[in-house]
Amino acid sequence: MTALAAEAPAPAISAKRLFEPSEVTLEDSILGAWEALTARDRAECPVCHGELERGGCATCGSSLS
Ligand SMILES: [Zn+2]
Repeated sequence: MTALAAEAPAPAISAKRLFEPSEVTLEDSILGAWEALTARDRAECPVCHGELERGGCATCGSSLS
């Protein structure tokens, strides 16, 4: 009949799950940066992806607290 039949509609729940973890993902990236900073004395800034040092980001000035 139509080619549309080949494109299965995604369940609504999977679309919802794409959006829910955004807050957790940011928190996880900050935690990951903090762990890397503790372990190696440097990490990638989760905000600007610059170089993060113990005192904060050398590029954008963000600090992990
Ligand atoms: Zn930064």
